[in-house]
Formats: sequence, C-alpha cells, structure tokens
Amino acid sequence: MKDTLAEYHRRRDFSKTAEPEGGRTDPRARPSFVVQIHDATAMHFDVRLEIDGVLKSWAVPKGPSRDPHDKRLAMPTEDHPLEYREFEGVIADGEYGAGTVIVWDEGTYRNLSTDRAGHDLPLADGLEHGHASFHLYGHKLHGGYSLTRICTKRSDGREAWLLVKHADRSATTDGTPDPTRARSARTGHTLKQIAETGGGAP
Ligand code: MN
Repeated sequence: MKDTLAEYHRRRDFSKTAEPEGGRTDPRARPSFVVQIHDATAMHFDVRLEIDGVLKSWAVPKGPSRDPHDKRLAMPTEDHPLEYREFEGVIADGEYGAGTVIVWDEGTYRNLSTDRAGHDLPLADGLEHGHASFHLYGHKLHGGYSLTRICTKRSDGREAWLLVKHADRSATTDGTPDPTRARSARTGHTLKQIAETGGGAP
C-alpha cells in the first residue's frame, strides 16, 4: 500500500506527542468515522473517514451540521492512522497541532457514492472525482452526508470542499453545538476537562 501517512509522520515527533504513530490496528468489518474537536490556534472540528486502512481527514471550522441548508467548509488535511479515531488528549505546546482534542462523535459509515449513471462507486473513487456520499451511524451524527470539492487549488495551495447533510429522515434544523460545551462521545469529558487532566486516565 502507498505510504499515505508520510506527511502525518513528517509533521510529528512521537517522542514528544501522545498522538498515535499508527500501523498497529486491524481493519474492522465496517469502516469507521470519527469527528474530533480540536482546540488549536483556531478551534475546529476534524472529520475523518476510514478508507483503505487510513483516516482521510478534513478540518471543518464550523463542524458538521444536521441541517441540509448548511454548507460547511471542509479543508483536506493529511491522512491519519486508524488509531487516531481513539485519540483524545493534549498535543503539547510547540508541537504540530498543539492544543486539546476530544472525540466528539464516532461510529461507522456506509458508502452511498454513485457515478453519473447511478452505479455504485467506491468512496475513494468518489473523492478522487470530487464528490462522495456516505451514511453515518454515530452517536450524534446520523444519516446521509456529502463531501463535494468546490475548489481544486486555492491561492494557499489547498483544496476546499463542502460538507452537507442530506435532506433525509435524520435531518434537523439544529446546527452544531458550541464546541466549548460539547462532550466527548467516548468519555463524556469537555475540552476543558481533558485539558486539565491531560487526557490521561481519570
Ligand atoms: Mn485538527
């Protein structure tokens, strides 16, 4: 398999960060997703989908919405190892992405991507073509979502995508909860509580 984690490894010193180095997890029967809240230089959500043994990742400044009218900017970031879906803790000052991380939501997903003729398309192919759809089975997020590339190269060299909820039965008019008050789907802790304990065992 292509080493898509090279950039993830290049950016980090694993003697200094508690983040996982990766490479030790067997794939599960159904692919997983995780949405982390990351209180870094700018507060943002990180949406990650398991594809081909890694977590494809997007930084979503406002976070996923349950309202199909909301179009949420999603900026691709480097692939992360599968173990990252469990990461909650504090990335030390001076390290890449310094700040506190909680797992806001986690679960599995089902690929809904199709080509123009309506035939099933692997999620990776959909993303390659700039449009992918998937059904989330999380604790907080449910139902269909799409990721659509709106800009292949901005002035800063990055792609821009939009994350939008499908107008299905799980759609609501709720936006995203305040990240400073949101609780971890794994531990029930807030960002502040994780920051105070360093994310170690309570
Ligand atoms: Mn992040």
